[in-house]
Amino acid sequence: MIPHSFLRYFFYPFFLKNNILFKVKPSGSLRVLLFHDFDDRHIPLFYSQLYWLSSFWSFISPQMFEGMMDGRIPIEGRNLLVTFDDGFKSNLKISKEVLEPLNITAIFFVCSNFITQPTYESSKLFLKNHIQPCDGFQCIPDHWTNLSPDDIEYLIRQGHTIGAHTANHKRLTELSPSEAYYEMSIARQTLNSLFSLDVTHFAFPFGDSSSYSPEVAEMAQKLFPYIHTGFRGNNAIAPNPSLILRDSASYQYPSLKYGLFPNHHLAAFLEGSVDLIYRRSISAYSS
Ligand SMILES: [Zn+2]
Repeated sequence: MIPHSFLRYFFYPFFLKNNILFKVKPSGSLRVLLFHDFDDRHIPLFYSQLYWLSSFWSFISPQMFEGMMDGRIPIEGRNLLVTFDDGFKSNLKISKEVLEPLNITAIFFVCSNFITQPTYESSKLFLKNHIQPCDGFQCIPDHWTNLSPDDIEYLIRQGHTIGAHTANHKRLTELSPSEAYYEMSIARQTLNSLFSLDVTHFAFPFGDSSSYSPEVAEMAQKLFPYIHTGFRGNNAIAPNPSLILRDSASYQYPSLKYGLFPNHHLAAFLEGSVDLIYRRSISAYSS
């Protein structure tokens, strides 16, 4: 783990230099931001962060992103897609208070068995057992609960895209092939039938190298044309819809609550400051 303070201070000069260069000569870049939950304190900060980023990056819709990944739309300038994993209730507030005012549409990756939890208590149990294993119920932040099917309907009406994130937030590499396939296919089937959709985007739970393997990726490709990972990188370099690179844009406190990276720290990630670390994993899977 690289200390975040080191990254921020080491790469800030590169960020400034690149900013000046990119303003003169735009270069093709296609990156995807990955967020999870937000507490109320972070919602205005998130608005400010996206507003700040919009000076240097163009936020693109999921449909535009698909076109760029498929080669139908040229990748010009600096393009950013926003995504959220898991299906936290706070994502509804994020749509209303941040994304809609900024005219940004995003992909929300949800676990089908999380968004169908009927009560606060059952939602907490699901979080503790599947999404954030920890000791006792007190370890789950109070405000964490699930988006409901009605909330998802609202997000769809706002133009957002719903993606699958398995049924139960399983690390697929730890399951048998049939169990892994079931986790993905039942999630797709449930979301399609609940919301009359044809779900085309999938994100691996956890998203790190131990949660991804060529075998599970091959199974996912049978179900979804767009497969998102947690490997950082610029998708414009070698666009591969089956191996979409995403930049984790939040971190967890010991309390498990999510926090936002400072602007210049996030900008350093988007400049590719740590892409090299992920390149070995990516080349192992993309060959
Ligand atoms: Zn997840």
